Amino acid sequence: MDSVQLEYIEQVFKSSHQHGDGPFGKKCERRLEQEFKIQRALLTCSGTAALELAAILFDIKQGDEVIMPSFTFVSTANAVILRGATPVFVDIRPDTLNLDERALDEAVTKKTRGIIPVHYAGVSCEMDTIMAFAKERGLFVLEDAAHCYGASYKGRSLGSIGDLGMISFHQTKNVGCGEGGALFINDPQYTERAEIIREKGTDRSKFLRGEIDRYSWCDLGSSYVLSDILAAVLYSQIEAKETTANRLKIFKEYEVGFRPFSEKYELRLPSIPPYCEHNAHIFYLILPSSELRDGLIAHLKSKSIASTSHYVPLHDSSTGMKYSRSVGSLPVTSNVASRLIRLPIYSQMSSAMVKIVVDEVEQFFKGV
Ligand SMILES: *Cc1c(COP(=O)(O)O)cnc(C)c1O
Repeated sequence: MDSVQLEYIEQVFKSSHQHGDGPFGKKCERRLEQEFKIQRALLTCSGTAALELAAILFDIKQGDEVIMPSFTFVSTANAVILRGATPVFVDIRPDTLNLDERALDEAVTKKTRGIIPVHYAGVSCEMDTIMAFAKERGLFVLEDAAHCYGASYKGRSLGSIGDLGMISFHQTKNVGCGEGGALFINDPQYTERAEIIREKGTDRSKFLRGEIDRYSWCDLGSSYVLSDILAAVLYSQIEAKETTANRLKIFKEYEVGFRPFSEKYELRLPSIPPYCEHNAHIFYLILPSSELRDGLIAHLKSKSIASTSHYVPLHDSSTGMKYSRSVGSLPVTSNVASRLIRLPIYSQMSSAMVKIVVDEVEQFFKGV
């Protein structure tokens, strides 16, 4: 922990404001709004909470359907299922591993209420096509930009394009405070109610601003505010400018390192479309088979290098089968998920460490 972070935390403990919506929380929100050109950012206690808040805000209810990829984290689907509605899974594009916009037409029914595009690894979905499709049919768009701190699509920050967006500040993301997140509001019609839902269904935010003289229960809601202790941690992380640049440098080193032998062993590297500025959240390889993938994970583990698969497709899980429906058999999703390996990447990673990982991957393939 750095000294700035400690100083901020100390400030919070010395003040009387350790609960949510405090000075550090507000500073984080203004900063996010400016940096990413978001109309309004509301910090939440997790990315999951932001998704759940959005689902209440859109009045998603029983009988509704929401289109999303199966290749995502469980929270994207849980938020919809918790409102009694049904996730409808569509396949992903083989290049970006994001929701395939060409599958939307087949997925849409009279029950469809909206679309949740997930920008995997901070690489953007084809947002122009998705937004136009949604607009034509009166559907909402909620961007799951959990991975996307500092990433953009045609110069627009991910999370700032849909009606609503969200980000995660979980420790595993590029910028984090342990547990945290934010809801991004790009359509001002949602702002007032979002504040109410975040404050347990009360208009406490208005009261705290002195706009009303007492607050009352005026809607459904839950406890979605981020403590100012964590907001202080988050603010120090947001201020640490070099995170994305460091990660992009490591990402490049991986690309350069794998290039001499990627074709020989049929290793597929991430593909970044020209419309996207990514943030190097994840570096992955797609291997020729799941056996090789599992073998490589074991080999790296024997060398004390942590690598993982990602994600178990939601449509294949018992809960997914119970509560959702898929459009077709999602062949790209199943195929990619069985062959993808995530390699270590973190902002303090040294070039020497990158080289060790690349060399161990090569050693593994030389031996099989
Ligand atoms: C991390 C993540 C979330 C949830 O964020 P939390 O802050 O962990 O609750 C949602 N969607 C995706 C795609 C994620 O990776």
